[in-house]
Amino acid sequence: MKARSIFFLALALCVMVFGSASLARAAMVSLTFDDGLNGTYDFAYPVLSKYGVPGVSGIITSRIEPDHVDFMNWEEIDKLAGAGWEIASHSVHHVRPIDVPVSYAKEPIKEWTLVSSDPPIYRGHYDYMLLTGLFDSGRPLTAVADAKELKLAPGTYFFDRIYESVLIRPFKTPEYPTQLDIRAFSYEREMEQSKKELADHGIEVKTYITPYNYWTDEAKEASKRYCQFAATGEGLANRPGNFDRYAIKRYMVHTNDTAASLIRIVKENTVDKNSWVIFCLHSIGDNTGWEPWSSENLDKLIAWLKQSGIDIVTISGGAERMAKLAPGK
Ligand SMILES: [Zn+2]
Repeated sequence: MKARSIFFLALALCVMVFGSASLARAAMVSLTFDDGLNGTYDFAYPVLSKYGVPGVSGIITSRIEPDHVDFMNWEEIDKLAGAGWEIASHSVHHVRPIDVPVSYAKEPIKEWTLVSSDPPIYRGHYDYMLLTGLFDSGRPLTAVADAKELKLAPGTYFFDRIYESVLIRPFKTPEYPTQLDIRAFSYEREMEQSKKELADHGIEVKTYITPYNYWTDEAKEASKRYCQFAATGEGLANRPGNFDRYAIKRYMVHTNDTAASLIRIVKENTVDKNSWVIFCLHSIGDNTGWEPWSSENLDKLIAWLKQSGIDIVTISGGAERMAKLAPGK
């Protein structure tokens, strides 16, 4: 080969290597740990800290220590936030939008029948799978395990799912059953209240993570009032062409998945440097929760990501970058 050709070949190679590196942004990966289990703090946090990268923790606000021993306490959640992790809302009770009323507008339960008068107990119809809370004129009623227990105290309710009926003993006896103001805990309330509980602890929530990766158009529309970004499942990478800030896609990680299988997903999906792969993990390093993964696997995955020059970002960080690539999304 002539010297001149070698020179042009070398020049072309330089443009390919350095030119593309300076023009393209790096592909992104996010590591999300759902449910706020202990393994997030005990095992995932030390591994991520070792590499100096942030994670994302999705908190179920009704499942926090000391009431729930498998979950992190507020102090641990605060430490993650202080270390640059993103704390996302993962609802109050971890329900799907099809199992409860979706909106505040659908919360009221009307048409009550008086079934006994001393003490006054009313029956109403409730045809959803789950009843996670009931309010009497805004005051929460307490669930009891058996209809007979309603006799013990006012301000109680019993949900009989088989008969889709709910029995209540209100705080005050109204003159007519139509005067009862009873509401069920909706999915919209799940989003607003979890965000508020986190804000009360000084944590600003930008992202909502859908429980069970379950999402509906109606719930997605409602989420726009309570968060800037919402992440769900779908098992796809996010790209400027398919990016939706209220349906950010994630890959589920199962206990039997190896670090190599996750690396393969990243390799296949980050050929396009503008793409973003998000993994949905749960607990790390122990056997609690749904599909836990090992610390060794997590370490191997992050070591490879770092070595490959792939940016590890939070959901809000990645979404803000993606929104610039896909304006209007
Ligand atoms: Zn979850």
